[in-house]
Amino acid sequence: MSTMSTVPEAVRALAEADFGAVAQRFTDAGFLVGQPAKGIMTIQAAGSVRASVLVSVGVHGDETGPIEVVAHVLDALSREPGKLAVDLMVCVGNIDAIAAGKRFIDADLNRMFRPVRGALADTAEAARADTMIAATDAFFAGAGPVRWHLDLHTAIRPSVYPTFAIVPDLIADAGKQALVKWLGQAAIGAIIMNPQSAGTYSYYSAEFHGAAASTVELGRVGTLGQNDLSLFADVGTALDGLLRGDAPRAAKAEPHVFKVAQQIMKLSDGFKMAFDRSTQNFTSLRQGDVIATDGDTVYTVQHPEELVVFPNPDVRVGLRAGLMIVRV
Ligand SMILES: [Zn+2]
Repeated sequence: MSTMSTVPEAVRALAEADFGAVAQRFTDAGFLVGQPAKGIMTIQAAGSVRASVLVSVGVHGDETGPIEVVAHVLDALSREPGKLAVDLMVCVGNIDAIAAGKRFIDADLNRMFRPVRGALADTAEAARADTMIAATDAFFAGAGPVRWHLDLHTAIRPSVYPTFAIVPDLIADAGKQALVKWLGQAAIGAIIMNPQSAGTYSYYSAEFHGAAASTVELGRVGTLGQNDLSLFADVGTALDGLLRGDAPRAAKAEPHVFKVAQQIMKLSDGFKMAFDRSTQNFTSLRQGDVIATDGDTVYTVQHPEELVVFPNPDVRVGLRAGLMIVRV
């Protein structure tokens, strides 16, 4: 086996925020194609109200698997452009971090989608978030009632559920049901209903544009061109079907549904967590177990069982260091 890898042209192009070939094919087919900012492309059909679908990748620059998946889906669709059945916005999130092969340049981009950014206001990511927000607002401003936002990520640590999704609780029922169905078709193992924004991109689209939106965690961080795409096959198929307007297929297995029991906020530099970043997502804790201490604040498990996701004691003060969830 060679250690050299060849990155397919479509994947290289998307990773470099180069929509050239894909944009040209949809333009030639009569679509209105816009590129409001680097790494952002919209493809719309004139004169008809269609579903509006936003697909974002690379919000964390080291999460390259979804870039590959979306590049292949988009490339194939652009070769039969008449099959695109929705208005589409594709957003490559942290383009500078992707180019640098890093998760972010100054700070986590997926905490910037909130009105007050405090100490994060001067970061490179704050400026990128402003650009993404402007394009997102413009895309949904003219949209019909059916609105989607799939923000595709890969998890940075092992997980009891290799694929899972965070779904804002405030999404209206019809959109939420369609989204949960789609997540099932994409073979997502678990869904966490989230009642509160952590400043994420998908929550922003749900809260301010009524989109059926989700942060979708797919498998593991990997190098561009070297991801095991068999791990992403189901989500690729489901995404392709959504963009072509296919009727949703039945889920292979219904996702397990969880809700947030408590958010663990890092209040000071004295924050100490009972576990570290290497802890698996969905690790189970028992009532009374200490989760973290922060000065006089002691976070303990309140329910008979709570599971931890996204444990990260290394976040900045004022940010979420972990989520505790319970089975619904
Ligand atoms: Zn991510």
